[in-house]
Amino acid sequence: MIRYRLRCAEGHAFDHWFDNAAAADTELSAAAVACPDCGDTAVAKAIMAPSVAKAAPAPTPCGNPVCACGCPALDG
Ligand SMILES: [Zn+2]
Repeated sequence: MIRYRLRCAEGHAFDHWFDNAAAADTELSAAAVACPDCGDTAVAKAIMAPSVAKAAPAPTPCGNPVCACGCPALDG
C-alpha cells in the first residue's frame, strides 16, 4: 500500500491509499478517485514536500551532541 496526498480541481487536499504506485496512476487517470469534499474526480497527486533528511545534531564546542555543559562559555 502506498499513500498519496491528492488535490482536486477545487483545491481540496486529501490522502488516499493505493495498492501501489502503478495502481495510483491507473486509478487517477481513470478518474476512479473522488474528492471526499466535493466529489470531484479531477484529482491529481499533490506536490509532495521534499522529505528532509533528519539533520545530524549540530556539533557543539565540547563535542557532546547533547550538550549539557554550557559550552557557549567555552567560546571565549
Ligand atoms: Zn474537492
